Amino acid sequence: MNQAIICRIALAIPLHKQFDYLLPSYLLKTALENLVGCRVRVPFGGKRQMIGVICEVNPACDYALDKLKNITQLIDQTPLLDDSLWSLLRWAAFYYQHPFGDVFQQAIPTLLRQGKEANFKGCEHWQLSGNAFNLDDFKGAKKQQQALSLLQESKLASTQLKTQDVSRPTLKALQEKGLIESIEQQPDCDLEWLNTFSESTQKPTLTAEQAIAITSVTQQSNTFNCFLLEGITGSGKTEVYLNILKPILEAGKQVLVIVPEIGLTPQTVQRFQARFKVPVYIKHSGLNAREQLDTWLHAKQASGAIIIGTRSAIFSDFKNLGLIIIDEEHDGSFKQQDGFRYHARDFAIKRAFQQKIPIVLGSATPSLETLHNALQGKYQHLHLTERAGNAKPPTSSLINLAGLPLKSGLSPQLIELMGKHLAKNNQVILFLNRRGYAPVLMCHECGWLVKCPRCDAFYTYHKSANYLHCHHCTATLPVPRQCGDCGSTQLIATGVGTEQLEETLNSLFPDHPTVRIDRDNTRKKESFNQYLRDINKGKYKILLGTQMLAKGHHFPDVTLVALIDVDGALFCNDYRASERLAQLYTQVAGRAGRAEKKGQVVLQTHHPEHSLLQDLVNNGYLDFSRNALQERNLAQLPPCSFQVLLRCESANATQAENFLSLCKQVLTQISLNNKTSEQLLILGPIPASMERRAGKYRFQLLLQSQQRALLTKTLQQAQVSFDNMPEGRKVRWSIDVDPIDFV
Ligand code: ADP
Ligand code: ZN
Ligand code: ZN
Repeated sequence: MNQAIICRIALAIPLHKQFDYLLPSYLLKTALENLVGCRVRVPFGGKRQMIGVICEVNPACDYALDKLKNITQLIDQTPLLDDSLWSLLRWAAFYYQHPFGDVFQQAIPTLLRQGKEANFKGCEHWQLSGNAFNLDDFKGAKKQQQALSLLQESKLASTQLKTQDVSRPTLKALQEKGLIESIEQQPDCDLEWLNTFSESTQKPTLTAEQAIAITSVTQQSNTFNCFLLEGITGSGKTEVYLNILKPILEAGKQVLVIVPEIGLTPQTVQRFQARFKVPVYIKHSGLNAREQLDTWLHAKQASGAIIIGTRSAIFSDFKNLGLIIIDEEHDGSFKQQDGFRYHARDFAIKRAFQQKIPIVLGSATPSLETLHNALQGKYQHLHLTERAGNAKPPTSSLINLAGLPLKSGLSPQLIELMGKHLAKNNQVILFLNRRGYAPVLMCHECGWLVKCPRCDAFYTYHKSANYLHCHHCTATLPVPRQCGDCGSTQLIATGVGTEQLEETLNSLFPDHPTVRIDRDNTRKKESFNQYLRDINKGKYKILLGTQMLAKGHHFPDVTLVALIDVDGALFCNDYRASERLAQLYTQVAGRAGRAEKKGQVVLQTHHPEHSLLQDLVNNGYLDFSRNALQERNLAQLPPCSFQVLLRCESANATQAENFLSLCKQVLTQISLNNKTSEQLLILGPIPASMERRAGKYRFQLLLQSQQRALLTKTLQQAQVSFDNMPEGRKVRWSIDVDPIDFV
């Protein structure tokens, strides 16, 4: 064999170790400098083949060459990702203490993960068949009419159907009429979009505050700057984004927009598409693998001008990125909660910094992290304090529940108020963050509760499906006929879930149809959007939901919003609970009175005197958040310090706790050696607040410091010891940097 090339390869495995392989010369069709960042297929453990990525060429290798296995296939001839994204991923692996092989794999679309080529493939397109028709004949079939008028402008790829809101049955119907046909072809790649760029003339006159915010960003658009756009709900943040986008697109640069929920993408996409005539692509987990790869390719070769997506879209590879927007930046869904626990917002800021472009974080309820940075002057703070157009902020009030007779959690005052709003033909939103019919099933004779055998939690009773379901693991159980303790047949559903409240609303307001929006009845991809459309058409008058309903939707006819029960969050041991409640309250309240009509918000509680509620109702999120930040500062909690959480779970409680104790020893020793023990707080191990879940005992070890770099360095030094501890193989453990959830 002539000159063998050793390649060090990262694989998607839960170890920080990388592996050396030989690249046979017959596979090498490219220059050596091109190899780092190319994907390869390699044999791994027995007959298995895995996809990996080359991280180093000809490193100092500890093994004899004849011990190394050969690479089976060199998939790419040039690095898959551009240099800046590659180095950002290297940084992320380091910062989040996660194996680079897995970081890399998570950052690329599924098909690339599987070793497919990074190329477009032909797909189904729809176009007019040439047979004559008259659009006016389709007055009775609006959807067909809309599809035809779209097709009059251009062909439609099957991947565009969702963004254009055209359904397949509509197209099939038109095909049967002989008006359109489907053909197989490569997706359109419009690399020349800049030449046909245009902006819709239909846009509102900006408010003074909007104009200031826009100018602030556009004046500094060729360099890194992080902006916090703190704008109350309905203040026209999206309008600000659109105006900021314009000069970026005009300069031929691409824009990345990150939104929290899949449910929000169609709305956002429509607004961007209605404004600019440029190719817009979406990226979220609801797309199939081919669609995801197509979007990725459009970003990479710049045939996509605007990419709108959820969390993972932050890893898209762009040819010429000019701006990042994170909408609803406070949203918890930006943090991935398992495996590679990155925060999309934080990654985005790092990315903008590295690529020297502006990033805009928008929210009515900024996270305390972001607010802290803005108040310290690290971010530029932009404000929208008034609602756009004629909309006025809603009025807020509390209803004291103490001693009141309740109907499925509704107080007589609230029922009366609902009646008034509904009588004026307005819509009402009721918010209850508890799915199912009732949170517990209890024996009326002896008080026995049906508890999940695998978790420290009770089963939730789902009446319509007639089963008990644990919301913390996947366990389900048919509804028992008898008490497990005394044998009584009197089992009663205790507490209120959305399913039960829906039943009550149907009997209280039979003439005002209720729709329930929660994860139980919106599982199908399309049903959530269908509900949203029906709500906007006025088909439903009472909208009942969990926090899914709180996010970003615009319902012009909603005038009353009520939070049924918030007491749980008032006395929670998680220091972030109050921040989350305040955000939720403000976002939900933001759904009231968004158009011409004045809105009203009410909050039912047994603790009307609670300072958090008083602060929110009387002074709003702005005041609340500044006070909360002061409290965090006094308690030295994030964002005024930094945390890392080590989690460990096992069927055997001692093993789980023991592993973390050993980790603590390692960490303590390291910080003694480094003489940094005074700056590093190590707390635990303690049981997680839900100690047992899905049959596993769960423990946590918390690290806290004023210095972020110290945490990173200490963990980096501990990594090898953690990986090599035999005790670690008997349990499941993970590192969560900047944790936001302690359950
Ligand atoms: P936010 O994202 O801040 O909640 P939106 O951008 O959705 O607010 O704007 C709320 C509503 O106000 C939308 O219907 C939008 O079209 C409208 N709007 C935004 N800016 C203006 C303006 N300057 N004048 C009139 N209406 C506006
Ligand atoms: Zn369970
Ligand atoms: Zn009993």
